[in-house]
Amino acid sequence: LTTLAEETRLTLANLADAATDLAVPSVRLGVTGLARAGKTVFLTALVHNLVHGGRLPLFSAASGHRMTGARLQPQPDDAVPRFDYEAHVRSLVSERIWPESTRQVSELRLTIDYESASYFHRKLGPGRLHLDLIDYPGEWLLDLPLLGKDYATFSAEAMQRARAENRAEIAAPFLKILAATDANAEESEPAAQELAANFKTYLAACRADAHALSMLPPGRFLMPGDLDGSPALTFAPLDIPADAAPARTGTLRAMMERRYEAYKTHVVRPFFRNHFARLDRQIVLVDVLHALNAGPHAIADLETALTEVLGAFRPGKRSWLSSILSRRIDRILFAATKADHLHRTDHDRLELILKRLVARAEEKATFKGAEVEVLAMAAVRATREATVKHRGEALPAILGTPLPGERLNGDTYDGKTEIAMFPGDLPDDPESLFGQADSVSEALRASFQTAQADLQFLRFRPPELDKTAEGLTLSLPHIRLDRALEFLIGDRLA
Ligand code: GDP
Repeated sequence: LTTLAEETRLTLANLADAATDLAVPSVRLGVTGLARAGKTVFLTALVHNLVHGGRLPLFSAASGHRMTGARLQPQPDDAVPRFDYEAHVRSLVSERIWPESTRQVSELRLTIDYESASYFHRKLGPGRLHLDLIDYPGEWLLDLPLLGKDYATFSAEAMQRARAENRAEIAAPFLKILAATDANAEESEPAAQELAANFKTYLAACRADAHALSMLPPGRFLMPGDLDGSPALTFAPLDIPADAAPARTGTLRAMMERRYEAYKTHVVRPFFRNHFARLDRQIVLVDVLHALNAGPHAIADLETALTEVLGAFRPGKRSWLSSILSRRIDRILFAATKADHLHRTDHDRLELILKRLVARAEEKATFKGAEVEVLAMAAVRATREATVKHRGEALPAILGTPLPGERLNGDTYDGKTEIAMFPGDLPDDPESLFGQADSVSEALRASFQTAQADLQFLRFRPPELDKTAEGLTLSLPHIRLDRALEFLIGDRLA
């Protein structure tokens, strides 16, 4: 699977990184997560807080006043789109609307000047660190395992998932067309297009709010980047009997097989080589609340996705991936996003739920090596906390301005009115969400229904920023963004 050319290219790229390292050290931090997990918001808030001296008490370089400056600089990779930081800040801060989400890979370099905390390093003069931020869709990360699978294996797994109890109904239109398809018939572009289109529709429906499923490869079918409509993205799994002979040339099956291989060669491998294999650290954003809202199948699927993600980061010795990874990711942070939808009392519970999911993934992925940390966070805090008196009882509530058009209990909001709401509690004991069962048991389902009945979420507008006495706008408020920063780069500024 590994070609010599690929290895050489990777080594050269890493050497080039190392050469710039000689002058100023750099950290390449990957920011990923499935669509709408909060990547764009996280990156924007991170840079905004560092550049504008945000409140970061748990980020020691900032709280110890050792960070003397942070500024954007031209990024090292000329061929990668720049993360449009300025436009995103304009949306968030000036217009109070959420910025446009991630659709492809992008990059931004932030250069940080600091005083070292250690006497020895201070003697050597002030320190400088390039923080290279690489934003990319989590869907693309979930494609990496495809590199180790042939078309028959991909098809068998995809078909097994499509026929699973929780998906068969969503997949029905695709399954119907597939049933009428003869894989050994002559190859035909319209047939390939029809199958691919229906397969994509099925994947998109699985991703929608009602189901919120995560395991939906191939990733580019949902997040195509600039390859939409190309033959490499126009294929679908087929029913191939386990004992089938190799595909005959000129058949539909041979065509699909060829395109699947093209997808790996032209889409997955370049992403792996040019972006993924060069990361030092990684944050994986997870919208746990979204999955919780959709129910136990969404959570089970999320757990599988996290297992695949961990497997990609630290492949076992025998894995094909480890043979071409020369650089090692040494810290991985899993962050449950949008914690501002919950009252403070629930932040730790949210964290526990993700911890449990990651721990199970770690067991299954036989993952070891990198330091893994889990936290609950809101990169941008859109709500405030309050206590509301209800029938003589003081209840914890959150205050926020729902997005225009959001609805709750028959009210539709106009985007201007601030309201107080009781978001509902997450279960005290996250174990109750998992039970003993490996698969989704009845007990698990029941506990979810109770938890779900309790939860209500509204989408809020980004916050109005406070101003200082001098009229300066303060930086974006957040929850635990400083803890995330401390884990991700704190040691590099020590
Ligand atoms: P991406 O697809 O991973 O880039 O996701 P975005 O960063 O664009 O976030 C998707 C949506 O999630 C946003 O439009 C917001 O509605 C919401 N969101 C993301 N982060 C936060 C957060 O920290 N707090 C709140 N309240 N909402 C968030």
